[in-house]
Amino acid sequence: VPASRIRNFSIVAHIDHGKSTLADQLLRVTQTVSERDMKAQYLDNMDLERERGITIKLQAARMNYNAKDGNTYVLNLIDTPGHVDFSYEVSRSLVACEGALLVVDASQGVEAQTLANIYLALEQDLEIVPVLNKIDLPGAEPDRVKAEVEEAIGLDCSDAVLASAKMGIGIDEILEKIVAIVPPPADNTDRPLRALIFDSYYDAYRGVIVYFRVVDGKVRKGDRVRLMASKKEYDIDELGVLSPTQVPVDELHAGEVGYFAASIKSVEDARVGDTIALASNIPDEPLPGYAEAKPMVFCGLFPTDSEDFENLREALDKLKLNDAALSFEPETSSAMGFGFRCGFLGLLHMEIVQERLEREYDLDLIITAPSVVYRVTLVGGEVIEVDNPSQLPAPQKREQVEEPYIRVDVIAPETYVGAVMELCQSRRGDFKDMRYFTPTRTTIIYELPLAEVVTDFFDQLKSRTRGYASMEYQFIGYRVNELVRLDVMVNGDPVDSLATIVHRDKAYGVGKILVEKLKELIPRQQFKIPVQAAIGSRIIASQQIPALRKDVLAKCYGGDISRKKKLLQKQAKGKKRMKAIGTVDVPQEAFMAVLRLD
Ligand code: GDP
Ligand code: MG
Repeated sequence: VPASRIRNFSIVAHIDHGKSTLADQLLRVTQTVSERDMKAQYLDNMDLERERGITIKLQAARMNYNAKDGNTYVLNLIDTPGHVDFSYEVSRSLVACEGALLVVDASQGVEAQTLANIYLALEQDLEIVPVLNKIDLPGAEPDRVKAEVEEAIGLDCSDAVLASAKMGIGIDEILEKIVAIVPPPADNTDRPLRALIFDSYYDAYRGVIVYFRVVDGKVRKGDRVRLMASKKEYDIDELGVLSPTQVPVDELHAGEVGYFAASIKSVEDARVGDTIALASNIPDEPLPGYAEAKPMVFCGLFPTDSEDFENLREALDKLKLNDAALSFEPETSSAMGFGFRCGFLGLLHMEIVQERLEREYDLDLIITAPSVVYRVTLVGGEVIEVDNPSQLPAPQKREQVEEPYIRVDVIAPETYVGAVMELCQSRRGDFKDMRYFTPTRTTIIYELPLAEVVTDFFDQLKSRTRGYASMEYQFIGYRVNELVRLDVMVNGDPVDSLATIVHRDKAYGVGKILVEKLKELIPRQQFKIPVQAAIGSRIIASQQIPALRKDVLAKCYGGDISRKKKLLQKQAKGKKRMKAIGTVDVPQEAFMAVLRLD
């Protein structure tokens, strides 16, 4: 196919605005997938994605479209993950395109992910095709939403497509617009090969499957290629296109999108953003923008049953094959025994990994509260990174502690501005800006310590705005603050996995509420258990868990068997996720108590 007949595009949208439904329609109308094979939401193939309504992994699909001008075009849809935790992957998949469909729900309007993703697309100079979706809904207000997009993004919407992905309205118009507005890729077939990796996944039989866009030159089956960042070389066993199932081809040239397999052992060796070159003709420069994703959030994972340690290691090794951004190393906790300290790109990434470990590998885990990465300058000038609160050096050994800050963009109806600001203010936020897109919808911008957002910030935002606010965030750098380590003692023993780093001004309040929470969460034993919070050697708060008085079942009167049964079942369930610390059983919830202090 000549480059002039190729269009590479992606779809950017806020969650639930209809990206997957629209992608399905494009595949259906271009007959890429037969009606028979079409199951709803073809592109969302992971259970986890469907349940959570998020798109984690991007995929690509190649469609042949017979346009009204009489020509047949190859349209490559490159799907993006859509969530900020994966913003680097989003940016790489957008670089592989010349244009993007901007899908906005005409009954909702611009949301935080709409903005975050469209900014990424504009940074790459993509041509944007605005689409107002869900016009079939009685509450659709396409004119209001057009004005909102124009105001928020500065994008002309007079020609926006009015569509209903669900009812199949406007799909042909979208396909025509892609051909007309999205530029064809540059025809650089004569140059030495440079291709961009925008996704990869591990396949047990063929090794890593690499998804890429050829930018310059061409690549053939059997070629020996070099990955310029990893400096490793491989022979291409299989080369093909995604239509959307993998179909082998012999050659792909500049502008085309495809996949290859080359017996690569782990996605770490073929990272998103790396440049593919021919080993026999290495170009002077790789494609720009390669970066290694750096974990931002850490937590400890401990098997409830210490015999499961090796199983946990195996499970993490397997997940890692498919997830270059996941990091982990063994951690020994004096209270918890052997486990792993794991690093994640963000909160969603962390939740996904935890859930997969429990679901797919059937492991019972105790997960400690997430921590950010602190930068500590020691006396003498050495700078170290601390991702585990229990390892923050004592005050006399350190000069200063810096913590990561993020910029948070919240979009909310005007009536909730007060609630949003109150929340941000209580989390040590610095107010930056507020703008009205329309008289009733606003964007509120704060700079906040990441540590204050990895707690229950998002849940709080949702509940305080009745679900009407959306947010996105981006890392902006490190700042010095007065931070202290708050230690927790249970029955006189320090529990390293309950330690947390807090701002000095908040330490007393946090300590007081934390011990109260722990008192509620830790089940009573035959003896009294003191629970204390301390800064250094100073106890700042304490509570006492009273001893168990009688058999719990004694509470049930008479012969109410079903109630007894229920109580026993409840206890059995609660037992599962406990860790014995000394002589005290501490439940999973206790390790998360520090996250829910309001
Ligand atoms: P995504 O999160 O952007 O991929 O959104 P989905 O494609 O999963 O759609 C979210 C929800 O909106 C689903 O329940 C869809 O059935 C529904 N939906 C998508 N497009 C339309 C539309 O044009 N009209 C209506 N009424 N519902 C739609
Ligand atoms: Mg989707």
